[in-house]
Amino acid sequence: MDKFRHIDTWVFDLDNTLYDAETGVFTKIGDRMTIYVADLLQVSQEEAGKLRKEYWKKYGTTLHGLMQEHKIDPDSFLVHAHDIDISDVPQCAVIKEYLTHLPGKKIVFTNSSRDFAARMTRQLGIDHHFEHMFTIEDAGFMPKPFAEPYHAIIEKFAFDPHHAVMFEDMEINLKTAAELGMTTVWLHGKDRDEAAAALPHVHYKAEKLADWLQHTIKKR
Ligand SMILES: [Mg+2]
Repeated sequence: MDKFRHIDTWVFDLDNTLYDAETGVFTKIGDRMTIYVADLLQVSQEEAGKLRKEYWKKYGTTLHGLMQEHKIDPDSFLVHAHDIDISDVPQCAVIKEYLTHLPGKKIVFTNSSRDFAARMTRQLGIDHHFEHMFTIEDAGFMPKPFAEPYHAIIEKFAFDPHHAVMFEDMEINLKTAAELGMTTVWLHGKDRDEAAAALPHVHYKAEKLADWLQHTIKKR
């Protein structure tokens, strides 16, 4: 904890960070996006899946790719993508408890929609911890890992990146955070990519957020 004594701002990714990858929720959202792309462009789901990968590489997200190349309405896409049942997503007792022991501001920073972030944090029983959320709408639909939303979130919530830590399951999303002076924690899940783990912008790592919190944060 000593290394985190100077931290007064805690920035959390949502998907596969605040809720577990094993819930399958993020995969379901991905499947909804694939259906959307297939319907929109009148291609097979397989072809849509390939296009999504290309968009992801070139534009950061499927949504950003569709906006750039097909001028779609982002709101209708987001509603469609997140139209899934999350009522069976379990709450994590460790995360619920340890969030109360983090001193300072807690912010959700997600490429997902505002409605989904609100629904999911409520389902997880942790919505009251987050007075602030920075969702894809706030970013003008420019996703992580582009630099713009990082500058925007710092400005919007007026925090010093040198006093902030960011938690993410995707290491690429930690690069700009580290460049701006933030401390980073990579949540690598079950199969850790050792090359990624050695990257200089990955400061700390754990399999899951709950593990990191339990091993690092002292209860007050
Ligand atoms: Mg994530």
